[in-house]
Amino acid sequence: IKPRIAQKDVTLHILKTFGIHMSKKLGQNFLIDGNVVDGIVAAAQVEQGDTVLEIGPGIGTLTQGLAESGAAVTTVELDRRLLSVLAKTLEGYNNVKVVHGDILKIDISREIGQANYKVVANLPYYITTPIIMKFLEERLPVELLVTMVQKEVAERMVAKPGGKDYGALSVAVQYYTVPEIMFIVPPTAFIPPPAVESAVIRCTVRNEPPVQVTSEKMFFRVVKAAFAQRRKTLANALKAGGLGKDALDQVLGQAGVDGIRRGEQLSLEEFAAVANAWSDLAS
Ligand code: SAM
Repeated sequence: IKPRIAQKDVTLHILKTFGIHMSKKLGQNFLIDGNVVDGIVAAAQVEQGDTVLEIGPGIGTLTQGLAESGAAVTTVELDRRLLSVLAKTLEGYNNVKVVHGDILKIDISREIGQANYKVVANLPYYITTPIIMKFLEERLPVELLVTMVQKEVAERMVAKPGGKDYGALSVAVQYYTVPEIMFIVPPTAFIPPPAVESAVIRCTVRNEPPVQVTSEKMFFRVVKAAFAQRRKTLANALKAGGLGKDALDQVLGQAGVDGIRRGEQLSLEEFAAVANAWSDLAS
């Protein structure tokens, strides 16, 4: 039986043995709390027969939890120094494949094959959102994504219309997935402790979008314009986004949305209505 990596003394011992100094640039904050590892594996509902793509294994802390669930795990790590560490810490887990590379550059389907898969990641916070959006926008065959994010980012992802947290990220994530905050993680769960609180978010990918749009490009153009200047009315924001004065009245009239409202008050349905009216006019 292998010791759990998700413990402070075990982690420090591994780092010392391999002479690893954690890289701030690569966002290396390693989990040392076994309950958080268990919570992430449970949130992803990982079971035998599943295919899991883990991103950023570090020294294998979360990978170990995933491996013990019996799923087939492919894990992608950018830091070359950690490859020899992972070879040792994950020794004996025959269901784990470690890939060296940048998740934004490698050919994922080549590593994973054709199966649907679950994405599990505890990544540097500055690249987490672009990575989540890449999987969603490219419509990769992902069932769900469970990731650690900064708590504020998790709150923006699940935000409903009307509050300051609601923005283009909320609309995009909710268009593609059903996001849920699973639990909050304090800085003490990592070494070194990050400056901010974290949250584990689960985004279950939808089979169908929640609203019908004629053009996704137009939908996201409207969303982007509406939130580009949050203080502006919807009418002014759409004008700034390229909609002419006469067309504006027609689009808002057809959509049944009042132009004096602000973007942060619009539901996905209302964004879709505006986008579809604009698409009709443009066609
Ligand atoms: N999963 C481990 C844990 O929970 O303790 C490590 C988490 S640490 C926050 C993030 C890891 O992602 C680091 O090991 C870092 O080297 C790796 N990483 C950073 N950017 C990456 C990228 N673009 N592709 C793959 N891995 C990356």
